Amino acid sequence: MVVFTDLDGTLLDSRTYRFDEAREALEHLQDQKIPLVLVSSKTQAEMEPIRSHLHNNHPFIVENGGAVLIPAEYFPFPLPATGISGPYHVVEFGTPYPLLRNALKEIEREVGLSLTGYGDLSADDIAVRTGLSSEEAALAKQREYDEPFFIEGDRRITPELAAAIRRRGLNWTTGDRCHHLMGSQDKGRAVRRLIEYYRQAAADHHHGLTTVAVGNSLNDLPMLAAVGRPILVRQADGSYAPGVDLPGLIRAPAPGPIGWNQAILSLLR
Ligand SMILES: [Mg+2]
Repeated sequence: MVVFTDLDGTLLDSRTYRFDEAREALEHLQDQKIPLVLVSSKTQAEMEPIRSHLHNNHPFIVENGGAVLIPAEYFPFPLPATGISGPYHVVEFGTPYPLLRNALKEIEREVGLSLTGYGDLSADDIAVRTGLSSEEAALAKQREYDEPFFIEGDRRITPELAAAIRRRGLNWTTGDRCHHLMGSQDKGRAVRRLIEYYRQAAADHHHGLTTVAVGNSLNDLPMLAAVGRPILVRQADGSYAPGVDLPGLIRAPAPGPIGWNQAILSLLR
């Protein structure tokens, strides 16, 4: 088995960003040596401290599928078409950040909406809008493949805005707190690539592979669609994210890490 998980509002509580309530299931995964792959819209700089806090040494997926980072020597075979960054093999799917920043400003002028990206904000401003600490917000600004943005006034993506994004060959998704401008990456593409590697490793040992993913928002849908056991946890307000549905979807009865804990424990039973 391999488990892919979103962070904010899923493994991490949407308000406190803590994972205490998921501890029991996390320990079971660790005991059974089941890989837990973190899949987030967060940056590498934000995810590294969370990985060490979780004692997690598995591959991870940054910036909504912008890149997959795989610790060197993790898979027992050579990885084709990967770059090297520090201790990781890197598979890049995303569009370079400076290009996204330029596009966001062009699109803002074109559609006449006020679009505020992380690149327009100081770390303190981001902290106020997201509930992150200023230190965490500074890490969230270290972006490479995805620009989170707010639509001032009206929070929804309008058809004109969607069209202006698509005309540039770009894409968007919606996470827990804001929208994201990005290239052709999504969490699903990145997860499918890792599943290929895990399947190859399992086949070497003549095993099958059960794939599990847990998410809470629209940006998790491609990841949920990429696995055999997709799990959706409730939002903090008790609802399920609208527009997130697919055959075989398991709806956890509780929000965030509480739902995460229940769903993973019942899957392991
Ligand atoms: Mg989330």
